Amino acid sequence: MPAPDSESFRTFIHDLIDEDMRTNRWGGRVVTRFPPEPNGYLHIGHAKSICLNYGLARDYGGQFNLRFDDTNPVKEEQEYIDSITEDVRWLGADWEDRLFFGSDYFGQMYEWAIQLIEAGKAYVCDLNADQVAAMRGTATVPGQESPYRNRSVEENLDLFERMKKGEFPDGSRTLRARIDMASPNFNMRDPVMYRILHATHPHTGDEWCVYPMYDWAHGLEDSIEKITHSICTLEFENHRPLYDWFLDQLGIYHPQQIEFARLNLTYTVMSKRKLLQLVKDGLVRGWDDPRMPTICGLRRRGYTPEAIWNFCRRIGVNKYDSIVDIQLLEHCIREDLNKRAPRVMGVLRPLKVVIDNYPDGQVEQLDAINNPEDPGAGTRKVPFSKVLYIEQDDFREVPPPKYFRLTPGQEVRLRYAYFVKCIGCVKDPATGQVTEVHCTYDPATRGGDSPDGRKVKGTIHWVSAGQAVDAEVRLYHHLFSKPDPDDVPEGQDWKTGLNPNSLEVLTGCKVEPSLADATPGTRVQFERMGYFCADPDSSPGKPVFNRTVTLKDTWAKIAGKQDGKAKR
Ligand code: ATP
Ligand code: MG
Repeated sequence: MPAPDSESFRTFIHDLIDEDMRTNRWGGRVVTRFPPEPNGYLHIGHAKSICLNYGLARDYGGQFNLRFDDTNPVKEEQEYIDSITEDVRWLGADWEDRLFFGSDYFGQMYEWAIQLIEAGKAYVCDLNADQVAAMRGTATVPGQESPYRNRSVEENLDLFERMKKGEFPDGSRTLRARIDMASPNFNMRDPVMYRILHATHPHTGDEWCVYPMYDWAHGLEDSIEKITHSICTLEFENHRPLYDWFLDQLGIYHPQQIEFARLNLTYTVMSKRKLLQLVKDGLVRGWDDPRMPTICGLRRRGYTPEAIWNFCRRIGVNKYDSIVDIQLLEHCIREDLNKRAPRVMGVLRPLKVVIDNYPDGQVEQLDAINNPEDPGAGTRKVPFSKVLYIEQDDFREVPPPKYFRLTPGQEVRLRYAYFVKCIGCVKDPATGQVTEVHCTYDPATRGGDSPDGRKVKGTIHWVSAGQAVDAEVRLYHHLFSKPDPDDVPEGQDWKTGLNPNSLEVLTGCKVEPSLADATPGTRVQFERMGYFCADPDSSPGKPVFNRTVTLKDTWAKIAGKQDGKAKR
């Protein structure tokens, strides 16, 4: 399990909890929860919330619950419940035996609603949604009271029971809290607690046709689970008075709601609604498309839970909305894979090289280092022969200035192999394209060192043609062209900001034979080309690789200048 270093992942919430511990507010308990609505897949923003909630529970020896906040059957599906469970587990947040469903508490919630009706604090309202909206008032004008607001307790109890029994059609009535239509806080203007929905629920089936609204349900769920610190994102700050009101009116166990800023990342969107639309419209290959900011997308792309934890630790937790530079996330996975990914050679855009003075038919096995960052990773054998592939970019017939790679007359090192010197090339007479490069090699430089101290400025990677395995490689670029895709001019569709070149598929790539049967999820560094992860689309002898991230760490360069955040 990833073990974040709690020392450096201290947040303002740790300060609050320290104070609670000092005053013994919760009897020494810390109980947090992650409460997703199962209406989509989890994304990196959810990971921030999971790391925070799980991290706090772990730091204080407390408990962390996973709870599905499943109060809206219309948008919720078992598929989402399954994927969320898998992703939270993969991140290493352990809920032990505390997997809960808000819907399991529907019976208790109903009892509490009756308690509020009996206390004159809730009433059945016959206005429809449009009428309720029209009577809500504005920031300066108080809302109008519903004509049904002063119904008798008996009538309310009778109507609410009949709502529950299914006597009324969807949308015809609601149960509303009786608070204050003149409150400056809209959330307090007689909010709806229950609506009628004749819909099958993934967890409770057809048992219910009245469903609780989020604001009513959430605090009750927290209360039932004896949560101590109910952590949510900033947009719920002005819902807190309502959260408190319900619990106070009922006189039940009352957790403390604490808000923090949600995560936004450059070059992507984070709203579940928008991510769902990308999937539904076929603009990506699915929820787990490696371009998506979803947990399953990041996993398929090659991200590790450790890198995500590290990212969450570095961005920290605060109360100001900001957008985090996606390069920080990329930096975190690079840092992790640098330590653990074995190095291999793979040629993405192959160009054939013939070593004219190398014996025909000979194949040598040369030693290659698996990971210079990890001496324990050892070495492996890579085959070398007369015909090789190198990257097209590593040869120039007419080199630009300071070109240290292969060009006529220039000598380079083939990684772990020999010094070779280019003596010419063959071109396609029709297109003028170079189809084959000819070289000679110096047998005295075996292993890549020259005995006479001769220096070469360039080292390039290669694979032996006879043993190479064909691979498909998928390169990913930002999903959106602009850093802030949510910021679109009035009337313009946010989807127009999609980067049309976010996916680049390369076929006919040539990789080391050791990768022929790479199992999906295998992570490697292709020397000089980046970190890659074998995709589930791979089949034996036909590997498919996703590029997780390039080797160029732009973050490391700018990290000194800022703190992980670009202000909106
Ligand atoms: P919506 O409510 O619009 O469906 P949501 O992203 O808030 O979307 P939830 O399932 O309610 O979805 O989220 C579960 C938890 O994750 C909530 O506690 C929420 O505060 C937190 N969360 C969601 N998005 C982010 C984010 N971008 N950054 C940090 N936490 C987030
Ligand atoms: Mg939400």
